[in-house]
Amino acid sequence: MQCSVCGAEAEDLASGEFDGLVVRCKHCGEYAIEDRALNAFLRLDYDARVAALDKAKTGAGAGARPEITPGSF
Ligand SMILES: [Zn+2]
Repeated sequence: MQCSVCGAEAEDLASGEFDGLVVRCKHCGEYAIEDRALNAFLRLDYDARVAALDKAKTGAGAGARPEITPGSF
């Protein structure tokens, strides 16, 4: 799969326990995107996607996987 933030080749970690995408990208790290945030997220430009991921990382705390939600952007 492609990373939803930067477009690089990325690993799909979705487990079925989370309603959305779970991605591991060597550029962006590991993150999740809620299904209800996905369409709007993909319409953002690159800088806005990076900013949303940064905001999710800040909110997640140490060691937790950041989750991009509609509140992240
Ligand atoms: Zn990436």
